[in-house]
Amino acid sequence: MFASPDALSAWLKSTAAEFEDRIDELDGLDAAIGDGDHGTNMARGMATAATIVPGPNTTTREYLNQVGMALVSSVGGASGPLYGTFFLRVGQLWQSPHTVSSLWQALKAGRDGIASRGRAKAGDKTMLDALCPAVDVLEHAAMERDEEASTSLARAAAAARAGAEATRDMLARRGRAAHYGERSIGHLDPGAVSMAMILDSASRHL
Ligand code: ADP
Ligand code: MG
Repeated sequence: MFASPDALSAWLKSTAAEFEDRIDELDGLDAAIGDGDHGTNMARGMATAATIVPGPNTTTREYLNQVGMALVSSVGGASGPLYGTFFLRVGQLWQSPHTVSSLWQALKAGRDGIASRGRAKAGDKTMLDALCPAVDVLEHAAMERDEEASTSLARAAAAARAGAEATRDMLARRGRAAHYGERSIGHLDPGAVSMAMILDSASRHL
């Protein structure tokens, strides 16, 4: 896999278009256990991030740093700083071309950044419930499998989708949804769905 700034930029443009198409769905999920703006927030943030054009000498690290800053300033809500931290941290360890191991290290750093910034952990019904299973798949692949990074990333994205689906049965312990207590059970976490979308799109473009 050769995930250069140009490839990352193409990925973000496509991801931004998917968020634009799914604004109502994600706003609807957030309306059930939050304030109904997650789709609007993410579509605005991704659209802003997608306008960043890497220059001929821009490194992937610089590019992902700019994307992270754009998300912090344009997404708003709780998810803005969390996704901003995710992209900043992933960018610090991104390698191009990358291996299963470097991909794992980069996404693990992103996961740890969200966990410390949000003071959240797996099982709290947040975006981490999509990201953590994906990182676990990459860790296992890096340690024990001999496969293409693209194959591992596709399996990680599938784990993220399953992880997002599993938030339906969880009790929210972080963010606005936590205020719903037991009433949060039975609804998907919107941030977990958006994280799964981002990883799914990554697996198709990178
Ligand atoms: P807000 O809750 O401020 O309206 P959004 O609606 O854009 O922000 O994002 C909500 C999502 O952010 C949730 O579905 C959840 O996945 C994620 N989230 C909220 N708080 C935290 C946290 N402390 N740690 C990790 N993720 C969180
Ligand atoms: Mg919200």
